[in-house]
Amino acid sequence: MKKTFKELCELFEEIENTSSRLDMTSLMSVFLKQCSLYDIQVISYLVQGRVAPMFVDREFGYSEKSFINLVDGYFKSKGKSIDFAKMRKKVGDIGDCIAVVSKDLRKKTGERNISEVYVLLWEIVNTSGLGSVERKGNMVMDFLRTSSDIEAKYFARIVCGSLRLGMHSKTMMDVFSYIVTGNKDLSEEFNRVYGVSSDIGYVASLLNSFKRDQVEKNIKDISVTPGFPILARLVERVGSFEEVFERLGDEVLVQPKFDGLRLQIHRFEKEDIFKREVIWQKFLVEESAGLDLFDSTREEEDTIVKLFTRNLEDVTDMFPEVVEEAKRIKGTKSFILDSEVLGWNYSEDTFLSYQETMQRKRKYDVDITKESIPVKSLVFDLLYLNGKDLTGMDTEKRIEKMKKIFGSREGSIEVAETLKVGTIEELKSVFDNYVNNMGLEGVIVKQVGGGYRAGTRNYEWIKLKKSMENGLVDTVDFVVVGYYMGSGRRAQLGIGALLGAIYNEESNTYDAICKVGTGISDELFKKIVVDVKSLVVSDAPKRVVVNNLLKPDVWVIPKIVITVDADEVTRDISKDKNGIGNGLSLRFPRLIEWDRDTNLEDVTTVKDLTTIFESKSGKK
Ligand code: ATP
Repeated sequence: MKKTFKELCELFEEIENTSSRLDMTSLMSVFLKQCSLYDIQVISYLVQGRVAPMFVDREFGYSEKSFINLVDGYFKSKGKSIDFAKMRKKVGDIGDCIAVVSKDLRKKTGERNISEVYVLLWEIVNTSGLGSVERKGNMVMDFLRTSSDIEAKYFARIVCGSLRLGMHSKTMMDVFSYIVTGNKDLSEEFNRVYGVSSDIGYVASLLNSFKRDQVEKNIKDISVTPGFPILARLVERVGSFEEVFERLGDEVLVQPKFDGLRLQIHRFEKEDIFKREVIWQKFLVEESAGLDLFDSTREEEDTIVKLFTRNLEDVTDMFPEVVEEAKRIKGTKSFILDSEVLGWNYSEDTFLSYQETMQRKRKYDVDITKESIPVKSLVFDLLYLNGKDLTGMDTEKRIEKMKKIFGSREGSIEVAETLKVGTIEELKSVFDNYVNNMGLEGVIVKQVGGGYRAGTRNYEWIKLKKSMENGLVDTVDFVVVGYYMGSGRRAQLGIGALLGAIYNEESNTYDAICKVGTGISDELFKKIVVDVKSLVVSDAPKRVVVNNLLKPDVWVIPKIVITVDADEVTRDISKDKNGIGNGLSLRFPRLIEWDRDTNLEDVTTVKDLTTIFESKSGKK
């Protein structure tokens, strides 16, 4: 049975008005069960706000502002004037605005199936070059002029990257499991497959018959494919050196903790790619428009190198020296390395700051910044080697293999030190050396046994940061949901303080718990004002909760992630009877970083902050 795009939009609306994750899972799985496999793949990408996996560099290229300009331009050409800025503040986001004006745009409506809309979206992301702005604009306007209010609303949100259904990839893995088993029996397996593929449409393609036996067979042997990023393994935090051994056993592996950009380095042969059957790849092969998605596949060379960040962004073109170095490595055909790339001062053999490193994360003028800020990738894990997936191998064995093959290298790719320690004193002394003598952020302690669990955060990998000794055991990543005007000079700047929220996994809400106004220079305040302006809305955005005492003067759509340090985590349940954010807050919070390169899915959770709170107050 074919579902229409309108029916999909109605589902999105229903999901948006549902806060229980279980209900969302049920709504989505019932719907997907009535769809073709093709449509399930399409919907999976759309839920992520994409037409292809995260690592395929294809964007619609519309901000909410440019989308409004497009629609506004259309109305103006018809002699009509609409105050979109006012409307947006009143009705909510871009989708709601477009739904309001939809009937004035409409010529006629017609049934569209999901695949038709997907093809159109694919065409929009692939339109580039001379005259592309106009061609894209025509495609968008043609759609809006032939669609119902609800289709226009969700189309606008998809194209502007503002779908925000609140369905995280983990929830989608539950959905897949429900489709096949009626419960979460296969969620863990689906999470594993998503972890090694990073491609939600690919995972969806394995559902084919919806029959449990068949699907289990399909997913059983799925493993890492070079050229496709693996979800980064994440780390837990603890409150003391003692706790490390309580959790990890008698002996542990210790590595320096570098503060740069997580970088997965893939080297593979041309023939390794295109082994998977996924819809976006079919387009890739069939349509010349998509051919440059894998730029390097067009090269004459057989060896290809790809670089991915923790957010699955393809950054191959940003670090040419790492690419060249990876190509030069002899004696191995294919590999995947996990590393942290850092700006490097080669004459003094020291690393540069996080801020300097991040200047290399840009698409343009790479040749110039490459000269002023050279980089080095410090490798700490080996995940794949010469056709073999190593993620199931014990950490110590993987590291030994990595040292043996890559250990003697110097230059843009270098293996990081790994030490094995068995006492608290030894661990402390290694920590002191890295932090006090080498100026590093801390250490990462790893369990000797156990595989590389892609995308998982558990106590097999633990971070110990220097801040642990006099502040929090870890900094906190908030999403900004509002701001306060402030008074005096601050008010003149336009913002006095920000309101930060953490993610509550249980209620699927963003719980606003902390006002952050320190650590911000006037210059940064000015940038913040510019950045948040386009996100302002009149009421609390969906899924954002706050207690009355903290209500901000201005609400903003949750999009920007900030990193905050503080003196301690506090908890006062009496002030907050609703238990928003588990009653947690921060004492003397200060902004460390504005607009961190982090997905909304990765902000600090209530559970994380509770761990930080408990580890500091010695409750464990
Ligand atoms: P979180 O991972 O908790 O969301 P975060 O992004 O702030 O928080 P950090 O606190 O910096 O992460 O710690 C984890 C990160 O440290 C890893 O994602 C990786 O980029 C970096 N890192 C540096 N050195 C290592 C190492 N030796 N092993 C693993 N990760 C390392």
